[in-house]
Amino acid sequence: MYIPTIGLEIHAELKTNTKMFCDSRNDSNETRPNVNVCHVCIGHPGTLPVINKEAIKHVLKVGVAIGGTLADKTSFDRKNYFYPDIPKGYQISQYKHPLVSGGSVNGIAITRVHLEEDTGISLHNKGNYSLLDFNRAGIPLMELVTEPVMHSAKDAVSFAQELQLLFRYLGASDANMEKGEMRIEANVSIRQNSKVKLQELGTKVEVKNLNSFRAAERAIEYEVKRQSELLENGEAVTQETRGWDDNKQATFSQRLKEESHDYRYFPEPDLPVLDISSIPAFSVEALKKEILELPSERRARYQRIGEGKSSMDPRHIEMFVSDNLFGKLFDDTINIQPLSYNLIANFISTDVAGLVSKYGENGLKNITPEGLSVIVVNYGKEDLSSRGAKDTLEDLFLNGGDASEVCKKYLQKSDSEELAKIIQEVMRENASAVNDYKKGKESALQFLVGQGMKATRGAGNPQVFMSLFLEALK
Ligand code: ADP
Ligand code: MG
Repeated sequence: MYIPTIGLEIHAELKTNTKMFCDSRNDSNETRPNVNVCHVCIGHPGTLPVINKEAIKHVLKVGVAIGGTLADKTSFDRKNYFYPDIPKGYQISQYKHPLVSGGSVNGIAITRVHLEEDTGISLHNKGNYSLLDFNRAGIPLMELVTEPVMHSAKDAVSFAQELQLLFRYLGASDANMEKGEMRIEANVSIRQNSKVKLQELGTKVEVKNLNSFRAAERAIEYEVKRQSELLENGEAVTQETRGWDDNKQATFSQRLKEESHDYRYFPEPDLPVLDISSIPAFSVEALKKEILELPSERRARYQRIGEGKSSMDPRHIEMFVSDNLFGKLFDDTINIQPLSYNLIANFISTDVAGLVSKYGENGLKNITPEGLSVIVVNYGKEDLSSRGAKDTLEDLFLNGGDASEVCKKYLQKSDSEELAKIIQEVMRENASAVNDYKKGKESALQFLVGQGMKATRGAGNPQVFMSLFLEALK
């Protein structure tokens, strides 16, 4: 048995109006090639970069949120390498003095968070030539590096998902993996499960091109297996960079791992050292004021609701933490009906979510916190059956309108005469249950009420049924 060790390097494109060092637009939705470009991001000689304050602020906010240390002074470095998508022949990055050091997310230790510029995109699928699109060149790119402290593909992926949530909560990045706004590189090694070597990590392999959480999970699992087999066969793991082939569901060797000295890092001569601590807007206190509730805080708030007695379902909690449309509806509705949190959570997670997946998000605006509380109150008073509540929600979702009015259409039948008829029928058809009850089997009554509800397709009022049955069974 081997123990896997995983460290992640996660890149996220920051949400800013303009690029990292020039005023070209930062727009990841642009579909026309080479429109958001200028002399600076295309690397014309004689042009000079200017630091984007918004980008720095995003990274510092991430730093505060993860409890990291913000740099007093920070500076940029040149990472030199040749590739067609990097027009200057170097990337401006941060090597020696990253903006943020340390911190943790969900117990996973973070090494550093720094800022750099994204590359352009090479398009190789056009024929026997390649095309270059520089819209992405120079977009602010945040890189977060973890310590090698994760030990399974699942843990690594949950960490990355939590990070995605955090970036979104902070407004730092939309972090959509499929759009390339967030990219994962996984460093994977394995070591013998022996006490002697516990402190020593094995040779790591870095896997790039992981464009989905699924790909990340598969690739890490694949590497653990591949490396284990190598060691089993008495072979050694080579330190290298590998890619992930989604079609083959396998990693493949790309290049032997370069060392940092290969990049000939040196301080970027065209940019000043940034004196972070002298800028009031960049103080921890000022940044904290701009940070609303974090995903972990929101999760903890939900976990405290009804703690001990009737805690919230963990699946509801995750849903409201990760989906703000549903989360906000939940928060606003429990503000009106604080005690009905579980009922509200149920209505949103099953009925409202069901309507969204059936009809799309458009009707969601018709489900207001006030409307949902009207439904909850009526349901609580048992004027509205669960069928009636579902129908009211669907009607509101599709047609809008005032919840109290719409509700009226679906209120339960409490008309005793009509129910009395049904009761006679149910008792005739379930004579043995009637007998059981008369012999003292209490649960038979529940059964009969259930049969009555069934006969009214859920529109009967169970309370009224119960008392009518009791009467009839005397
Ligand atoms: P490099 O200089 O090769 O980039 P770093 O020390 O900067 O290596 O680490 C890069 C990433 O690799 C980090 O996320 C780190 O946690 C991870 N890492 C380092 N050593 C190992 C290892 N032996 N096994 C798994 N991950 C590792
Ligand atoms: Mg590295």
